[in-house]
Amino acid sequence: MFQQSTIKEGKTELIVPDSSLREKVPPRDPAFFNPLGALKRDVLVAVVAGYSANLGSKISYGDPLAGVGAGSIRVCNETDVRRVYVNDLNPEAIELAKASAKLNDVYRKCSFSRYEANDFLLKHSGPHKRFDCIELDPFGSPAPFLESAVRACKIKGMVSATATDGAVLCGVHPEVCLRKYGSNSLNTEYCHEVAVRILYGALAFAAMRFDLGISPVFAHTTKHYAKINAIINAKPVLTSKEIGHVSHCFSCGARTIDKTIIAKCQECGKKTKSAGPLWIGELFERQIVEKSLEFAPTKSSKQLLEGALNEIGAPKTYFVIDKICDNLGIPPPPLSKIISALQKKGFRAVRTILNPRAIRTDATTIKLKEILKSA
Ligand SMILES: [Zn+2]
Repeated sequence: MFQQSTIKEGKTELIVPDSSLREKVPPRDPAFFNPLGALKRDVLVAVVAGYSANLGSKISYGDPLAGVGAGSIRVCNETDVRRVYVNDLNPEAIELAKASAKLNDVYRKCSFSRYEANDFLLKHSGPHKRFDCIELDPFGSPAPFLESAVRACKIKGMVSATATDGAVLCGVHPEVCLRKYGSNSLNTEYCHEVAVRILYGALAFAAMRFDLGISPVFAHTTKHYAKINAIINAKPVLTSKEIGHVSHCFSCGARTIDKTIIAKCQECGKKTKSAGPLWIGELFERQIVEKSLEFAPTKSSKQLLEGALNEIGAPKTYFVIDKICDNLGIPPPPLSKIISALQKKGFRAVRTILNPRAIRTDATTIKLKEILKSA
């Protein structure tokens, strides 16, 4: 038997392989646990609780790639769920999840299984078997599981998906992105937003195959992952308004989000490069995020949810101020100063949770550069 440790995360005690706490990169054997995923799980707990409170009923929760159950046992222990289905192919991982469930006295609310993830989801895709919430947290891309997740999710249920293939989604490997997500990616300063939009888009396309649609709830990114949460609904996606392309000018930094590719830069006339097809609608949903805020277990998770509320309806894509100032050869002014300077000139300007050094604004790149030079 391998060495185990008990740690506390949120209000939950988790039994994890000792090696995952000691080694710099947590090993997959005997079972994977990433201590750096605490924020992701804090947000998960808040959003699942917020979703359930907004729905007004207790929910069922399916975790096809549960690992040691860190996320699902926390959801079971820290939210008011009806039942949690913890699945993983790895027997060692499931034994640890069972032990954690017992330790937190939630074992009776859990069902454990050891199927391949798609197999597990398809077993739950018939009427009366579907989940209210599904969490996809794989190694790498969630793309191979999106369609099964849609099938196993109730109408008005919520699918969460985490991607750790950031280099693919952020335009470093465009061929792989096209293959996995059916979308062109782009290596721009706002690549985290492109990543989130590609993920939402991939889920939307999976839903559209069944004449269903999605409504984004909440998304966030770190240097390790991008994560989306979206409601599956009976209303098909408006492909004319919600699916489209980002066209970016690498010459002046201007960008356009539209249902079609805009081949010529609208500011300097140079040729653009584009990402898509991807999600061009809203990234966050006010009502559920407000509810989730009530359940945020930590200051960091609360700040993310508050930040999202602040940027609902804000201009799409953001400007990384340090990068622009670097190109201009000037020191970057404080973000608060730039935001108030833009607002004084009548522009919209807000921060974004997708990059702490960036702002969203409807000012043109020319105007923004002028304001930065005079700030
Ligand atoms: Zn341009």
